Amino acid sequence: MATNNRTADASLESLHRIFTVPEAPDSTLGLIEKELSENLNEFLRTHIAATEKPLAEIEKDFSNANIPEVPSFVSDHTQLLLNKLVAQSVHTAAPTFIGHMTSALPYFMMPLSKIMIALNQNLVKIETSKAFTPLERQVLGMLHKLIFNQNESFYQQWMHSADHSLGAFCSGGTIANITALWVARNAALQPDGEFTGVGQQGLLRAMRHYGYDDLAILVSERGHYSLKKAADVLGIGRDSLIAIKTDDNNRVDLDALQTTLTDLKRNNIKPFAIIGIAGTTETGNIDPLDQLADIAAEHQCHFHVDAAWGGATLMSNKYRHLLKGIERADSITIDAHKQLYIPMGAGMVIFKNPELMTAIEHHAEYILRKGSKDLGSHTLEGSRSGMAMLLYASMNIISRPGYELLINNSIEKAHYFAHCIEQHPDFELVTHPELCLLTYRYVPAKTQQALLHATPEQRDQLLELLNDLTQFIQKRQRESGKSFVSRTRITPEKWQRKPTTVFRVVLANPLTTTEILENVLIEQQQLAQQSTISLPEIITLTDQITKKSTKIDI
Ligand SMILES: *Cc1c(COP(=O)(O)O)cnc(C)c1O
Repeated sequence: MATNNRTADASLESLHRIFTVPEAPDSTLGLIEKELSENLNEFLRTHIAATEKPLAEIEKDFSNANIPEVPSFVSDHTQLLLNKLVAQSVHTAAPTFIGHMTSALPYFMMPLSKIMIALNQNLVKIETSKAFTPLERQVLGMLHKLIFNQNESFYQQWMHSADHSLGAFCSGGTIANITALWVARNAALQPDGEFTGVGQQGLLRAMRHYGYDDLAILVSERGHYSLKKAADVLGIGRDSLIAIKTDDNNRVDLDALQTTLTDLKRNNIKPFAIIGIAGTTETGNIDPLDQLADIAAEHQCHFHVDAAWGGATLMSNKYRHLLKGIERADSITIDAHKQLYIPMGAGMVIFKNPELMTAIEHHAEYILRKGSKDLGSHTLEGSRSGMAMLLYASMNIISRPGYELLINNSIEKAHYFAHCIEQHPDFELVTHPELCLLTYRYVPAKTQQALLHATPEQRDQLLELLNDLTQFIQKRQRESGKSFVSRTRITPEKWQRKPTTVFRVVLANPLTTTEILENVLIEQQQLAQQSTISLPEIITLTDQITKKSTKIDI
């Protein structure tokens, strides 16, 4: 570690310097900039430590609550960041990092982000963003067209209309989902006669006016946790986000949905939004969107589709049919920082009808004046960066067919990996990839057989042990730093809906090769052998079951 005792002094002169004079090319920061622009991969590979320190250790480096009384030189501080922060960060861009929705970025993002930061626009209003405002509106229009494919005159009429909005750019899927449900809530409890709307008068008076006992939002049990946050902040309450059970493909059970809707209405509870998921976070499955659209229409509910992760599939002419029915949604969430390869902090909500967002319109005197084109009048967030520029650039540089190649490639790689898992005697594919996400686990071949003959108690015991083993392998794999898959718990039909711990793989990084995938299985099989508790117990139990069942067979 660089323990340099040089101190800078807090003079106006030195402060003036940091605002005006760049770091010298041979300074620490200058060299880093050079490394970053010449070989990003090498930079990440050399500066991120291969094996991780325990979090408790890292916390010690970040536990001083005092704001420094003495300034640091930029170079010294940069060195500290490299040692303490960068070294212990996560190499999300590595082709062997296949556990999350965060992947590598195209190279051009780095210099373009610098332009964005240098300009430091604030998209809340025209006065601080000028051309960035029409650019953002165009980006929203492009996504709108990708989903709804309205004609040219539609976009000419609405894209730049001051009192309308095709959607909102925001920091991610969570804010997008909150915005969509905010619009849905305000539309369901809109002004009516004396009543000036829920936005103005609040939930209590809205309920009194409309005579409902409660409200409800319906989504499958695979709904993302951000929806609970939305129900909470919108005053509806988390209990009123109703989880509908799923079928054995992790898709919402439509009969259960219909039954719940009927029950709610009988109890004077107003269901105002039905949410379809286009790519669940845990298993990547897509709800039957067309049927959901029918049900939403029948019950006069707002139909929202959470396509935060899977929405980018619409770029693929080959696979966009998987999202059929999405064009009937009232609103859609899409994250650009997932499968559109934009840096973290880029989400969108798109509304089919350009009038819908007026339900949440806010105005203020010094900005967001009525009739102004300020984006802030239709967004939950206030000050926002010019992130839309990166998506605009990406859609131009990569283009729709380029994105299609990326998407097709990811999906086909997931199919390949699923095939490897199915062919392997010691692995079990738990959910098939519909998009580029799949789940699986390690189960020795003999144990797979034994599970078929086991008594219910033995089976439960084995399943518990397998859960421990999956957790063990996943942790070891992460700690050893060669590759990374994530881990989640799902309730597969096949295992009587018992909580089952599985490896979760998302194949979005275009640099992940089939060889890497094959090696992941080899590594996991080796790691399993290091388990000194669960694996031996699994084998003992397997042998017991096998002996008994062969006796019976004889
Ligand atoms: C990622 C995700 C979200 C939340 O998005 P953030 O960008 O993390 O806020 C919501 N829904 C689904 C289906 C997601 O995959």
